[in-house]
Amino acid sequence: MDLIGWFGAVADLEGALVEDNGGGQLSVLFPDHLRRRLQVGEMESFGMEEEQDSDIGRLLHDQNPVIAGMGEILAEKGRFATAELPGKPQLLRMPEAFLDRHFTAQNFIYRYRDQQIATVRYLVIPFLLGAVSDMKAERIVTIVLNETTRTVPLGMENDLTAAMPQTLHSSARSAFADTAPTAGAGATETISLMKKMVHRQAMQLFSEFLRSSERRMLRDLERLQDYYGAIAREIETGAKKRWSSDGEREKAAGRLEAARLEYEKKIQDVRDKYVVEIQAEPLGALRLAVDAVVLHIRMQRRKKAMQIELPVNPLNGRLEAIPCAACHTPVLNGFLCDEMHFLCAACHPNCPICRRD
Ligand SMILES: [Zn+2]
Ligand SMILES: [Zn+2]
Repeated sequence: MDLIGWFGAVADLEGALVEDNGGGQLSVLFPDHLRRRLQVGEMESFGMEEEQDSDIGRLLHDQNPVIAGMGEILAEKGRFATAELPGKPQLLRMPEAFLDRHFTAQNFIYRYRDQQIATVRYLVIPFLLGAVSDMKAERIVTIVLNETTRTVPLGMENDLTAAMPQTLHSSARSAFADTAPTAGAGATETISLMKKMVHRQAMQLFSEFLRSSERRMLRDLERLQDYYGAIAREIETGAKKRWSSDGEREKAAGRLEAARLEYEKKIQDVRDKYVVEIQAEPLGALRLAVDAVVLHIRMQRRKKAMQIELPVNPLNGRLEAIPCAACHTPVLNGFLCDEMHFLCAACHPNCPICRRD
């Protein structure tokens, strides 16, 4: 598609009336929001080339602010999209048995209360993950979180890849979000939880990168130690030969001290060089509304009780997991601390949340 065709298509998508005058010329009637955003009049003509004796109006080219503005609009829309997936799930015939198979309470009891079909919303964010030290590694990782119940739909990112193109072409409604997913109540916490989840994954994904940085750092530190060890020995042997002369001891001590300070500074330089910084940048966001079976459960430990909602993921039929309150690992086999924080096995015996408070 050439520039003028692209411009016409996007303007049309954004609610403008576009008339193709032929010969690469367009007349466009802009709606209010585009007039303000692009700083154009209500009716404008556009063309690609200047022709003699013809008034084609504005000339379109790559550097044109109108084109840049339209590109920005499109980029924002591409980053934040919403979609609805069709389909009505069936209530479970044996919800207790299903829970028995998939949810394990290690140090508490739980009871199934009831189930209902409800619309839940998922936030799907592909992150560009980077590990940066003296070298750099990059991966794209997609994190999906059920915003409605704050549960983790295990494996859903793979099912989405399979389901999306098909459903979007058939009956799913896909629309551009009016507001970014960062807007709205609770969204900031959702995003911050997803960032913590992606950082946790980064530690696993980049484990080889982290180990190799560590190895190279230790190797450099060993070299430094050898080098400054040799310097120190040289200063000492040199001094011993001239032991009798005036102030030789003091001079040697001064030189040793200078070498020690330099050594310490070099150690810090090496440590700084190999510090691994983990970066996670969201590449976009998709908010997905789907109907799901949601199980209502009552968890009880000693005298305390709490209600939770666990959805059965509508795409893959798996029970969604609860993120560990401390490290955010998704868990379906968990513990409760005395303050009712839901924890994974690694965080359990000594609840990090209670310790922090
Ligand atoms: Zn944990
Ligand atoms: Zn706790």
